[in-house]
Amino acid sequence: MTTIFVSHAKEDGVCAEAINKELEAKGYTVWREPTSLTLASVLSPRTLEDDILGSAALILVWSSHAAHSEWVERHILFAQRLKKLLLPVSIDGTPLPNTLVAVSPVAAQASCAGVVAQLAPSLPAPGSQEALLTLYEQAAHDRIRVRKEASDLAAGMLTRDEHREEVLAVLEYLAHQDQMMGVRDKAQEVLDADTKQRAGQPQPPLLRPGDARYIFGARCSKGHVSYFNKNRVCAEKLSPVHRRVQRAGAELDEIELTCEVCGETMIVRIDCEGCS
Ligand SMILES: [Zn+2]
Ligand SMILES: [Zn+2]
Repeated sequence: MTTIFVSHAKEDGVCAEAINKELEAKGYTVWREPTSLTLASVLSPRTLEDDILGSAALILVWSSHAAHSEWVERHILFAQRLKKLLLPVSIDGTPLPNTLVAVSPVAAQASCAGVVAQLAPSLPAPGSQEALLTLYEQAAHDRIRVRKEASDLAAGMLTRDEHREEVLAVLEYLAHQDQMMGVRDKAQEVLDADTKQRAGQPQPPLLRPGDARYIFGARCSKGHVSYFNKNRVCAEKLSPVHRRVQRAGAELDEIELTCEVCGETMIVRIDCEGCS
């Protein structure tokens, strides 16, 4: 089953539901907010992060409302941390967050009719057996045993150099955030083995092993994209405007960075959690 997570502000619920219905008609599973507390949801509380982790892609309904939604911001940051496929749909022309640099939005009417047809070429096929999607599902599974299997699958993918950055991001999430120590330890073992294995190989200059997944881009108001190393930016507290802010119950970092081309100051929100 290929699950798509549609992130939206509550004001854009009509658009999101139109997208959900079109996705379901094509054979995708969509994530919907639970409407009631079931026994299962009480016994095994899933986090928002698990729901995004388990999804094949995140469709972002972007609007002036979304730009002010703390939840949407939290979804974006987590999807970026996992290097998830993130597909923005713009309904009112509001500029995208300045850290969404590698994607251009699909333009839509407020009703969002027909959006899925436009997104289809970018989406994995419904029922895709792609290893990365299986990894996502296993890593977000309710069963501890299956989440441990995710680390085995990840180890194999790293050996074959498949989706390296995405796989490492999933392992780091499991190693740091999983509720069960057994799952955390297993993910950490795979990460350690990979670090050891890579240490013997020549690395590109100036990049330490694993650096690539900490590189992020930010776009200034004139459209220049500058790239930064999240580890360095987070650790050095480079600017006076480095502060933790609360967003929808989670913390994120607000940082002042300078455009490498024009020198403009950009306020960038990233999540330093999980940096070393
Ligand atoms: Zn600039
Ligand atoms: Zn950090």
